[in-house]
Amino acid sequence: MRDETKCLHAGYTPQNAEPRVLPIIQSTTYVYDSTEEVAAVFDDPMKSLIYSRFGNPTVMAVERKIADLEGGIGALCTTSGQAALLLSILNICSAGDSIISVPEIYGGSINLFSFTLKRLGIECIYVKQDASDEEFHAAFCPNTKAVFGETLANPALTVLDIERLAQIAHAHHVPLIVDNTFATPILCKPFEFGADIVVHSTSKYMDGHAVQVGGAIVDSGNFDWNSGNFPDLTGPDESYHGISYTETYGKSAYIIKARMQLMRDFGVYPAAHSAFLLNMGLETLAIRMKQYCENAMKVAHYLESSDYVEKVIYPGLESNASYTLAQKYLKGASGVISFVIKGGKEKAIRFMNSLLLASNEVHVADIRTCVLHPASETHRQLTDEQLQDAGIHPGMVRLSVGLENVDDIIEDLNTGFISIQ
Ligand SMILES: *Cc1c(COP(=O)(O)O)cnc(C)c1O
Repeated sequence: MRDETKCLHAGYTPQNAEPRVLPIIQSTTYVYDSTEEVAAVFDDPMKSLIYSRFGNPTVMAVERKIADLEGGIGALCTTSGQAALLLSILNICSAGDSIISVPEIYGGSINLFSFTLKRLGIECIYVKQDASDEEFHAAFCPNTKAVFGETLANPALTVLDIERLAQIAHAHHVPLIVDNTFATPILCKPFEFGADIVVHSTSKYMDGHAVQVGGAIVDSGNFDWNSGNFPDLTGPDESYHGISYTETYGKSAYIIKARMQLMRDFGVYPAAHSAFLLNMGLETLAIRMKQYCENAMKVAHYLESSDYVEKVIYPGLESNASYTLAQKYLKGASGVISFVIKGGKEKAIRFMNSLLLASNEVHVADIRTCVLHPASETHRQLTDEQLQDAGIHPGMVRLSVGLENVDDIIEDLNTGFISIQ
């Protein structure tokens, strides 16, 4: 099946006289005929369902759809993108380990890596995307367990050189974990370029309608965990009477361990109803992504030609530093554009306040066009100097182009510019 078809049909195939639409199975628990059968499921929780803290038929159908779209061997849904990130790291890192990440990532991920994981004894070493191969290799320590980056970074909008980072990571026998939230599997399938694990905030384009927060981890099934680097996957798990995940589950070791062990212990599993809503978003993902890209491209060209705009950051534009990487990795540059208004903060705020169609909100990738002013909203605690270091101009506006008619979006932006004349 192609992506458009997978979006509609993967993960759930109704049998004779079953519901056409994925049913919401809203139950915490599952019934068995005998104690012996319950005992057998406790011995191998992958045999059947036990409890909805780590497995539910509605959620699992959506997991199969996401895994299929990414071309992975399996997926695990979580209650948020942050939960997906946390589990993806904890599944292979313990206190005393480290990871390498590019710094061009989501602010929430920086907080998680720099502060919370650090308190748990896991260090994050940052290496800039444009560093040389030698600089990356030099950052590895004997305790390094993963390399991390975002396909299309939020909010920097830089494009990750997935193939290069995968080669570097694999030379040290560690996996490359890629946050594919902004690209979605419709615009990029990181496994095709050598990434090993993909994480998502499904709250963004996958849901698309701004109705529920969620996340997902997807396993390519390609990484070889047997280098001696990952005793938690290869060695005995005492909390499951000594099983070895690699010996028992082979290529699915990573994603099954995340479910059986971490989801059992942390319990960040979505409700069936949330998965049902996510599935409705996924059904139109392929067709929406095409339209987001088309609308954003037109808006980016309009902004580039505007006298009120100093700079437009959109990797679909030839003027963008990531343009070549975007051509290689992305089928479109998605719907998020950053641009800098001439005249700085005061003008940017006046511009935003006068928009009638685009809403002012802390969200991106919604079906409706929305805007955010990083300097006075998400990054308001920073001084002007710190803003400059973070690459955030006081006059910068982050625009998430929606699916309205693009002429209406452009007219709205035009109204904003007229108001700051
Ligand atoms: C939003 C976002 C997250 C966090 O996801 P939540 O669903 O809000 O927890 C992680 N990574 C990226 C790239 C994001 O845009």
